Amino acid sequence: MAFRRAPVVRCISSLVPPGSSTAALHADALCDFSTAGDVSPPMSLSTTFEGDGHIYSRISNPTRSRAEALLGAVEGTPEQTAHAVLYSSGLAACFAVLCRYLPGRVAITGGYHGTHLVLDQLRRISGGQCAVVPLPPPDGLASTLQPGDVVWLETPLNPSCDVMDIEAYVTAARTIGNVRVVVDGTFAPPPLQRPLGLGVDVVLHSTTKGLCGHSDAMGGALCVADADLAMQLRDDRTALGSTPGSLEVWLLLRSLRTLHLRVARQSSTAAELSSWLEEASRTNLAGLIHAVHHSSLPSHPGHEVAKRQMTGFGGCFALELTTEAAARSLPGALKLFRDATSLGGVESLIEWRRKYDSAVSPLLLRVSVGLEEPAHLRADLEQAILAVSRS
Ligand SMILES: *Cc1c(COP(=O)(O)O)cnc(C)c1O
Repeated sequence: MAFRRAPVVRCISSLVPPGSSTAALHADALCDFSTAGDVSPPMSLSTTFEGDGHIYSRISNPTRSRAEALLGAVEGTPEQTAHAVLYSSGLAACFAVLCRYLPGRVAITGGYHGTHLVLDQLRRISGGQCAVVPLPPPDGLASTLQPGDVVWLETPLNPSCDVMDIEAYVTAARTIGNVRVVVDGTFAPPPLQRPLGLGVDVVLHSTTKGLCGHSDAMGGALCVADADLAMQLRDDRTALGSTPGSLEVWLLLRSLRTLHLRVARQSSTAAELSSWLEEASRTNLAGLIHAVHHSSLPSHPGHEVAKRQMTGFGGCFALELTTEAAARSLPGALKLFRDATSLGGVESLIEWRRKYDSAVSPLLLRVSVGLEEPAHLRADLEQAILAVSRS
């Protein structure tokens, strides 16, 4: 299995440092994948291969190895090599990391509801592993966890945008020993945060969201610092069959080219809209807005940690209106925001989150900001909030 170890993009040239937008454009080309001189990568559809490189597409194929090399170069930095392993969905990646560690306990509170479905399945299959314990503050870890357990940090958290102090949890986990820290970084793709550089064992992304970024390809990824763990995860994937299709990984390659631009723009627009909404809740929209949640806001409880831990605050925010009726009606009153779940795409989306997650306040709307002009999004939000509050 020559390609269990996907090529690692080393810092070949100081002009292409891992983690940079230049790496997102050139790192994979430096890996010698292509023979034809094509500028856009070819998409390999073959399921089987002659010769002594790739063997069978469930194990590896050229497009997937190339996408893994590129995502590794995007998640990593000059100081921190990253190895990426791709899956058919974010939840397949979630299942893969929990299967590999099969922890006795998982310390987790809230977050993406699908992660809890995976934990339910693992408890059913394993006859009791993966017991859920509420995530304590970092200084409470030692009294809650034992060796072999997992700390699951989703940060920023879906949909409240709470921020967890990754470094503090890593330090606390190390004092217990053999407690792994997994960060679900779907709400903050690179370059917004670099959890591997803070010492976490695994970073999970639903590539369906910001990494693919165009609402057209399902996928998941695990990024790890340990090359042996990456190989182990690829062997597990060969056995479990949770491989992504070639079109999806090709779309990921295509999308990573613009990741830095998209993420920076979505992040700054989300911060701008959150700040305007918070201000408007005291002025022209007073009485109509109950709360705005985005870690860019100095009023947000995670603001200080986010400032230290992230280079931007992410493209999602949450908005609470003052009545459930207004919250339910808002998506239908907007013209530029599509009323659909998911996030991280180029089109702005909004959803009444209670529809998918019964644990969430009925006043809350989750907003994923796209690439439209911030002023247009703001005007649309303003007209819609006034319209639903009048009716
Ligand atoms: C969407 C999402 C997932 C699951 O990813 P899929 O690609 O839908 O399987 C996991 N975590 C978070 C935070 C998500 O938003």
